[in-house]
Amino acid sequence: MTSLASSARAPTDVLRHVFGFERFRGRQEEIVTHVCGGGDALVLMPTGGGKSLCYQVPALVRPGTGIVVSPLIALMHDQVQALRQLGVKAAMLNSSLAPAEARQVERQLAMGELDLLYVAPERLLTESFLHLLDGARIALFAIDEAHCVSQWGHDFRPEYRQLTVLHARFPGVPRIALTATADGPTRREIVERLALEEGRVFLSSFDRPNIRYRIAPKNNPRAQLRAFLDEHEGEAGIVYCMSRAKVEATAQMLATEGRTALPYHAGLDGETRARHQDRFLKEEGIVMVATIAFGMGIDKPDVRFVAHLDLPKSIEAYYQETGRAGRDGLPSEALMLYGLEDVAKLIQFVDGSDAPDARKRVERAKLDALLGLCETAQCRRQVLLSYFEEELPQPCGNCDTCLNPPKTFDGTEAARKLLSCVYRTGERFGAGHVIDVLLGQATEKVVKFGHDKISTFGIGKDFSRDEWRAIVRQLVAMGLLVVDVEGHGALGLAEKCRPVLRGEEKVELKAEARARPARTGGGER
Ligand code: ADP
Ligand code: ZN
Repeated sequence: MTSLASSARAPTDVLRHVFGFERFRGRQEEIVTHVCGGGDALVLMPTGGGKSLCYQVPALVRPGTGIVVSPLIALMHDQVQALRQLGVKAAMLNSSLAPAEARQVERQLAMGELDLLYVAPERLLTESFLHLLDGARIALFAIDEAHCVSQWGHDFRPEYRQLTVLHARFPGVPRIALTATADGPTRREIVERLALEEGRVFLSSFDRPNIRYRIAPKNNPRAQLRAFLDEHEGEAGIVYCMSRAKVEATAQMLATEGRTALPYHAGLDGETRARHQDRFLKEEGIVMVATIAFGMGIDKPDVRFVAHLDLPKSIEAYYQETGRAGRDGLPSEALMLYGLEDVAKLIQFVDGSDAPDARKRVERAKLDALLGLCETAQCRRQVLLSYFEEELPQPCGNCDTCLNPPKTFDGTEAARKLLSCVYRTGERFGAGHVIDVLLGQATEKVVKFGHDKISTFGIGKDFSRDEWRAIVRQLVAMGLLVVDVEGHGALGLAEKCRPVLRGEEKVELKAEARARPARTGGGER
C-alpha cells in the first residue's frame, strides 16, 4: 500500500473534485479502473468522446507523473493550460520551450512535482530524457493519437514506431494508447507496433447520431453549396476543398455573396491562419473554407456543418473531418459532393505514386470503400460504421438515403450486359473502352482489338455514356466489378458476379443512373 502522505484518491473523487464532472461517460470508468490497476489499454473512441480523462484521472490517482506523448504542440499547450486552471500540476516539453524552461520542467519531473507531463515523441525518445525517466516515478504512459504509428494513415509519424522502447525499458508502467481513427487494419497495426498484445482494447461506438449525412453527385457545386449554406444561415461550419486555389476561390465567392467566409490553408502565413482560426472559434456564424490543414485539434463544440466540395482521401478522413461537426451533441449536418473526376484524380494519385505495390493495393481498397459509401442506396451510417467493423442493426433514419430512399430500378439486364462486355474484351480494358464497345462506337482502339466484331458490341445503346459510368461505379461499389491496380484501371470480374451472370441474382441500381437524358455523340471518355 502507498503511504498516508500520498494516499491514493478514488477515481470518482478525482473526477468530481478536480474535473468537476458528476459521472464518467461511456466506457471511461472501465478504462480508468483498468489503467489504475496497472493494465495496458488501447482506447478507440470517436472525437469528442472524452479520451483525455481516460489517462488524466489515472495519472492523478496513481503515484508519480503521467507521461503523455502527443504529436501536436498546439494541442499540448491547450491541454496543459486547461489542466493548470483546474489546479493540476501539468507541464510540457517540446521544441517551443526555451532551453532554460525545458531544464526547469525536467527538474520538476525529477523532483516528483508534476502530475502530468506532455512530451513530443522525438523529445521523449532522446537518451537523455529516457535517462531522466529512469530516475523518476512514472504513473503511466499515455500515447495520444496512437494511429500515428500507422504508415497507411494520414498522420504517420516515424518516431511513434520507436515507442515500443517504453515497454522494453519500463515494463512495470501501464501504457494507454488512444485514438479516434480506427478501422480494423489501423487498430491491429497499433497493437502490433506498440506491443500492446497484452493490453485490453476498449472500443466505443463510433456512431455520431446527431450528424446527418448527405452525399450527392457533383452536378452544380456552387449552387449545391449555396443551397446547403442557406439551410445553415448564421451557423458556424467548415467547407473543405482539395486545393489551396479552390479554397481561395470558394471563400471569395461566398464573401461576395455576403457570407462571413474565411480561407484557411497551409499556404497562408502563420499570422493570418491564427487570426482566421481565432475568429472561427470566437465569433458566431463563420464559414471556414479550408484544406485539410484545418481542423486537427480544433475544439469548437458548436460547429453545425461540414461540407466536402471534393472527395476526402478515405472513409477515415471523411469520418474525422465530418466528426468536427456537432461535438456538443446537437443536430448537425455533413454534406459531401463527389464526381467521377474526383475519383479518377484520387486513383491517379495512388497509382502514380512510387509507393510499393502492397501499399497501393491498400490505398485502392480504401478508395473503393469510399466509392461504395458514395454510391450506396443503403443507410449511409450503416455503411460508414461497417467500415469500422461496427454493426448498426437498423437504418438510422438520419441520413439522406434513409430520409429520401433513392429510387431504384431492376438493373440486372444492364449489369449482365456490362459484365459480359468486360468478360468478352478479356478483362484488360478500362471503363472508357468497355463503354465504347457497349455503345457500339468503332473507335480506333475498338477496331484494333476486333471488339467491333464481338457479341456485346453495341448492345448498350439504351443508356448514355454517363449512365454507363454511373452503372460501372455502382457495380464497383457493390464488389461485382474490380478495378485492377496493376492493369491501369482495367475492369475485371469479381467472383461475386457469377450468380448475376448466370441469371440467378438480381441487381438493383439507383434510378439516378437513368435520370439524365442520353447525350449525343461520344461525350467524355
Ligand atoms: P476527445 O479527446 O475524445 O476528442 P475530450 O477528452 O476532449 O474528447 O472530451 C470532449 C469533451 O467532453 C470535453 O469538453 C470534456 O471536458 C468533456 N467530457 C469528457 N468526459 C466527460 C464526463 N465524464 N462528463 C462530462 N463531460 C466530459
Ligand atoms: Zn441512415
